[in-house]
Amino acid sequence: MSSPTTYELFAVKYAALDRPAPENFVFRDVHDGPMPLDFFLWVAKSPERTFVIDTGFSEETGARRNRTIIRNPRDGLAALDIDAARIEDVIITHMHYDHAGNHHLFQRARFHLQDKEMFYVTGRCMTHAVLGHSYDVEDVVQMVRRVFSRRAVFHEGDEELAPGLSVHFVGGHTMGLQMVRVWTQRGWVVLASDAAHYYANIEQSRPFPVVYNVGDMLEGHKRAYALADSPRHLVPGHDPLVLKRYPAPHRDLQGIVARLDVDPVPD
Ligand SMILES: [Zn+2]
Repeated sequence: MSSPTTYELFAVKYAALDRPAPENFVFRDVHDGPMPLDFFLWVAKSPERTFVIDTGFSEETGARRNRTIIRNPRDGLAALDIDAARIEDVIITHMHYDHAGNHHLFQRARFHLQDKEMFYVTGRCMTHAVLGHSYDVEDVVQMVRRVFSRRAVFHEGDEELAPGLSVHFVGGHTMGLQMVRVWTQRGWVVLASDAAHYYANIEQSRPFPVVYNVGDMLEGHKRAYALADSPRHLVPGHDPLVLKRYPAPHRDLQGIVARLDVDPVPD
């Protein structure tokens, strides 16, 4: 492996949802209170390259699913001086509606995804409403179009996309979920995406209930810990604590953007 490039790493929040805690764990405790969920995309930026990791959902999709956009992903990226239309590499951790929408924003980009995710979203599993519900058919159709316009890049298992940035197959939550590992000034950080929605899912080994294979999801937790330099280098996919633990790049982005390439502060 070549010597890694150091990336700046950001979480960009674009929406939020109130949820009761029992909806966030397979093995429920019905006495738990509220446990809201944040929606993010992520950016890994080096002097040479910028990777956008996931693309969020659009206002239209949000309205259909009763989710409110706080700041649309294009504006969230613009706050970091990133023009979505110029992005060349998008990594899709998995194709759930909240991770793989807004295709009109990224006209120039290649989209990196796992073979198994494409297999999953175009095959028999989607005939089951409980599995297909979290996908938007238009996102899937757009990905098929990218395949034929040579803008889909398929990965199988673990692959380095650039020195200091790699994707890692996990499955579990979906058949083809992948995590992203990024070299930063504080070491290897793992963007778990939906391998761990909340810190609590992974720290307590209590999986999130939207799941294709519970056993693989639990193995994915182990894998995430193994790939990150420490548990403090692991970033869950939907936890509002991310914006509490990591600082904003500047004050007017407080509550919207967090820097993940600096150490988290204790609660
Ligand atoms: Zn998901």
